[in-house]
Amino acid sequence: MKKVVVLTGAGISAESGIKTFRDSGGLWEEVDINEVATPEGWKKNPARVLEFYNQRRKQVLNAKPNTAHLALVALEKAFDVHVITQNIDNLHERAGSKKVLHLHGEVTKSRSTADPGLVYDISGWKLDIGDICTKGSQLRPHIVWFGEQVPQMELASEITSRADLFIVVGTSLNVHPAAGLVHYASDKSRKFLVDPNPVGVDQVKNLEIINEKAGVGLPALVRKLLSEI
Ligand code: NAD
Repeated sequence: MKKVVVLTGAGISAESGIKTFRDSGGLWEEVDINEVATPEGWKKNPARVLEFYNQRRKQVLNAKPNTAHLALVALEKAFDVHVITQNIDNLHERAGSKKVLHLHGEVTKSRSTADPGLVYDISGWKLDIGDICTKGSQLRPHIVWFGEQVPQMELASEITSRADLFIVVGTSLNVHPAAGLVHYASDKSRKFLVDPNPVGVDQVKNLEIINEKAGVGLPALVRKLLSEI
């Protein structure tokens, strides 16, 4: 089976009602990144950070996977599909994708501030000051903040380097090191970018740009790839 690696960003979940960060009307127009998505913001005001992610979690729990998430599940009929997502939502898993790697963490999980190996599912939508791990330390959202290491990056680049097809969906390719993954795909692999506002990826060879929303462009691409088998 040919291996398809799909790098997804906030755009794939936009049609499920979850806001992107950088688009106009996106979340970063409403909140200051430094206050809610950095270790410094956490140190300064952990309650503010917990509240920000509580709201994100509530939104995710109320959202449903859309036709783009479902199209990637359909692709598994004929391809070995690996989803590498920058998203912190769980819509790929809820759609039914089997192999999902989260580069930037998962909003539905918490992590110990004393031991990063202690990760828990959050039941419901709230994580509060006073919620502690089994070692007695405060829990934080299981999110990779700006300025922190991306622990899954090595695995993601290794998976990407073995892709026969590489699909990028709904990302401004602004957040590093995730954006650099594009360059790990072999020059020989077929590549597709699905985004209604595609970013410049000038030096990428064999790239076809599909200038559509994910909910339209991705199901069409999946139908095309399945018809070629
Ligand atoms: P971004 O906000 O920087 O860029 C969004 C991209 O999606 C843009 O290129 C935009 O043109 C495109 N887009 C908008 N609507 C689309 C649609 N309907 N179909 C396809 N594409 C569409 O997002 P990013 O590049 O993923 O980086 C932002 C960071 O913020 C990521 O690290 C991600 O973890 C995080 N984030 C996650 C979520 C989520 O989990 N759903 C939501 C917002 C932000």
